[in-house]
Amino acid sequence: MKYALVTGGSRGIGRAVCVKLACMGYYVIVNCVNNLPEALKTLELVRRAGQDGEIMMFDVSNGEQVRKTIEEWQDAHPGCYIEVLVNNAGIRRDNILALMPQEDWNQVLDITLKGFYNVTQLLLPSMMRRKYGRIVNMASVSGLSGIQGQTNYSAAKGGLIAATKALAKEVACKNITVNAVAPGFIKTDMVEGLDEEALRKTIPANRFGTPEEVAEVVGFLVSNVAGYITGDVISICGGLYT
Ligand code: NAP
Repeated sequence: MKYALVTGGSRGIGRAVCVKLACMGYYVIVNCVNNLPEALKTLELVRRAGQDGEIMMFDVSNGEQVRKTIEEWQDAHPGCYIEVLVNNAGIRRDNILALMPQEDWNQVLDITLKGFYNVTQLLLPSMMRRKYGRIVNMASVSGLSGIQGQTNYSAAKGGLIAATKALAKEVACKNITVNAVAPGFIKTDMVEGLDEEALRKTIPANRFGTPEEVAEVVGFLVSNVAGYITGDVISICGGLYT
């Protein structure tokens, strides 16, 4: 059995990634923080794709919760290890910095950066022992270019990209790849409330992307043929950021 964990797998991009990984033969561990009904729908899609999986609830930004949950899983599955980790959980709390409450700054950075640390740090030792692992971090074009009204989100995703590059160098000799994908506007709950008609005029491809288009790239990075790609960032943005 090959195990994969997708944080924020209950909805949007994370859900599409779970289904893609199931199609690739993985047993998929679907993480979410609140939305159990949506996580159950993802699990159903994983099963329809012909694989099994389970739900693992934790808040990625809560180190104690993450440790307890993952250690319990590891104790219950001796001899098994999670070889694919997709750090996908994320939120946005947009505002100009001059008006941004501290809580919105902290929450966005905590979920993205502490979340990356909390989960990755726990799963790395077993990947290193087995000399195989695939880590994909869900960044954003906001972390590459910086977007006004998203200083917190740009900082978080830019930090995640830098962490991707640093960790890739640390673990490349253990046959573990660490990459990031940087979506532009993707049709999920996260972009609800945005003016799609106006925004798509700023996108060379003239449309928002789909979660499945992002999941295809994650699937490629996770696959065996991508073993020589590490520390890289792949944009999926219809030409928005080049
Ligand atoms: P979404 O539809 O809003 O889904 C967010 C997911 O993250 C949900 O599964 C949610 O779980 C989970 N989550 C939120 N906070 C969490 C926490 N503290 N611990 C664990 N899970 C948590 O968002 P999405 O558009 O699919 O975004 C997925 C990733 O892609 C994010 O990192 C986002 O920043 C990035 N991204 C998205 C876009 C876009 O245009 N959509 C563009 C660039 C990058 P619950 O269901 O339990 O709430």
